[in-house]
This record gives sequence, C-alpha cells and structure tokens, in this order.
Amino acid sequence: MTTILGIESTAHTFGIGIVRNRKILANVKSTYVTEKGGIIPMEAAKHHSESKEKIYSQALEVSGVSEEEIDAIAFSQGPGLSPCLLEGIKFAKDLAERLRKPIVPVNHCIAHVEVGRITGAKDPVMLYASGANTQIIAYASGKFRIFGETLDLGVGNFIDNFARYAGIGFPGGPEIEKLAKKSSGGPEKKLIELPYTVKGMDIALSGILTNLKQKLESGKYGIQDLAYSMQETVFAMLVETAERALAHTGKKELLLGGGVACNSRLQEMCKIMCKERGAKFFCPDRLLLVDNGAMIAFLGEIMFKKKIYGENLDKIDIKPKQRTDDVNVRWK
Ligand code: AMP
Ligand code: MG
Repeated sequence: MTTILGIESTAHTFGIGIVRNRKILANVKSTYVTEKGGIIPMEAAKHHSESKEKIYSQALEVSGVSEEEIDAIAFSQGPGLSPCLLEGIKFAKDLAERLRKPIVPVNHCIAHVEVGRITGAKDPVMLYASGANTQIIAYASGKFRIFGETLDLGVGNFIDNFARYAGIGFPGGPEIEKLAKKSSGGPEKKLIELPYTVKGMDIALSGILTNLKQKLESGKYGIQDLAYSMQETVFAMLVETAERALAHTGKKELLLGGGVACNSRLQEMCKIMCKERGAKFFCPDRLLLVDNGAMIAFLGEIMFKKKIYGENLDKIDIKPKQRTDDVNVRWK
C-alpha cells in the first residue's frame, strides 16, 4: 500500500491531493480569482503561500490519512509560472525534510493525461485544452508526443483575454459559455464568420483574438453572438486537429482534459466527432479537469512505484518551461 501526497501550484490553483493505490482520498484546492483583469504571477504566488497550510490540513482531514502514512510527496515541477512553482516546491521540500520522505517531480501536462486513466481510457489521444497549454498529446515510443499545439496562446488564456477585453474577470471561460448560450436569444444562434487558423496540425489564436476585439469595438456585434461564434470556430479547430491525430496514430480513444474541457459545447463537439469515427470518448470529472493536486498525486504514485523519485533535495528544481515531450517516460 502506498500513500502519495501531490501538490499543484503551476498557475492560479494551489491544490493538494492524496492518492492511495490509485484511489483519490482527497482533492482540495484554493483558486486565485480576480474581479477584473488576469493573473498577476506574484499575486497568485502570494495566494498560494497564504492558502497552503489550510489546504494541507484540509487534505489530511478529508482523507483521514495521518502524516506518518505518507510515503512520498509529489509536486508539479513544470511547466508553469516561476513564482507559483516556487511556492509548490518549497512546500514539497519542507514537508519531505520534516517527514523524511522522498519527493517525486511530476510534469503537470502529463499528469493531466495520466489521471485520465481513472475514466478507463487506456491509450488515448488527449485533447489538452487549458489556460496556458493547448496540445494534442499521445504516447508513442517512450514519450508523450505532441501531435499538434497552439503556436501562440493557450485556448483558455485566449478566451480569458477576450473576456477581459469585454470587462469580465478571471476566469472568463465559464461566463463566455453562459453568454454563448444566449446568442441571439434562442435556438437560432447567430454565427459570425471569424478567421479559421489551422496550420498543419497546429492552431493559431492571436489573429482571431484581434479580430474579435475589433468586432466588439465596432459596436456592430453583440457579445453573446461573438462568444457563440468564438466557441464554434475555435472548438472546431481543436476537434479537427484531434481527429487528425486519431486518424494518424490509429488510436481509438479520445480523452479531454484541461480547464476549457469543462465547456459543455466542446464536450458535445468531441462526442459527435468520436461517434462519427467509431472512437470512444472519455472526459474525467470536473474536479480532475481543472488544475488539481489529485492528478499530481496520481502520477506521483505511478512514478514512485517504479522508483522514479529524488532523495537529494538540493538537486531538484522547478522547470518552468518543461515540455510534455521533454520527459522520458520510464514508468510505462
Ligand atoms: P486550467 O489552466 O487547466 O486550470 O484551466 C483554466 C482555464 O479554463 C481558464 O482559462 C478558464 O477560463 C477555462 N475554463 C474554465 N471553465 C470553462 C468553460 N466552461 N468554458 C471555457 N473555458 C473554461
Ligand atoms: Mg493545467
């Protein structure tokens, strides 16, 4: 029996999860939000620093696990915002030192993929649509390969940026989804043509963002119709590239992940695509889609069982720019 504590702190969320034999015993988090404007990295780090003790004791309480039962401490090593990652690693190292346990450095993006195993997906293509990251990921010969990705903004940051321009605070995604549902006030929604920028297997979003801002500024278009048209266009770009990755790899499962995967229209479009090509669709519970500590503990446990961890704490550091395909996957 192994019990792993996982710490997530890459961006807006400070979360702690506790996993024992693939079962999630606790998944507690606190998220930095704003009324207006986006994430300020130092402010988010301050939020993490102020929340960590409370989140830690809540996680122990919810799980019923005592400190002595923890076998290792996993933490999000990257990619992410440096000030936020530093809060996570510091907490992990202090705890590891105090409890005399090893630490397991986990790649945040791969944790999003691997926690999808909980849904029953075995060897999926993953559409990972989150704030800073947007990638089509699949495992092939020793690494999680990136089959396609955004060339500029992550889709969540793109949506948040547009929302911010329209006066909506962070995170903007949920509000934009609500507005899109009200497009032209009913089932007859109004699709406004926007640039559609798929380049090979990659996508680009900054041009669409400029176009949306110009349209909003012109006063000729309603925010609800723009929100609707943005979702239809950009989600179609994501689904198109994900479908091509399925066709190319011959894999038969699509796994959705990342905060933007909470969007019901994106889920619906993925389901339709999977049905049409005879693939299975998997989407974890909302609490595992957004950034969370349980996914870090979950992958941490898989790695720990394969003896992939560090005991010399001085040699372990954050990796703010670590890419999904930098990681040698030694646990498969
Ligand atoms: P993550 O970085 O994976 O935690 O995801 C955070 C991102 O998910 C933010 O950019 C949010 O705006 C976005 N998000 C959350 N809920 C929704 C939603 N219902 N529709 C679109 N985006 C969303
Ligand atoms: Mg994430």
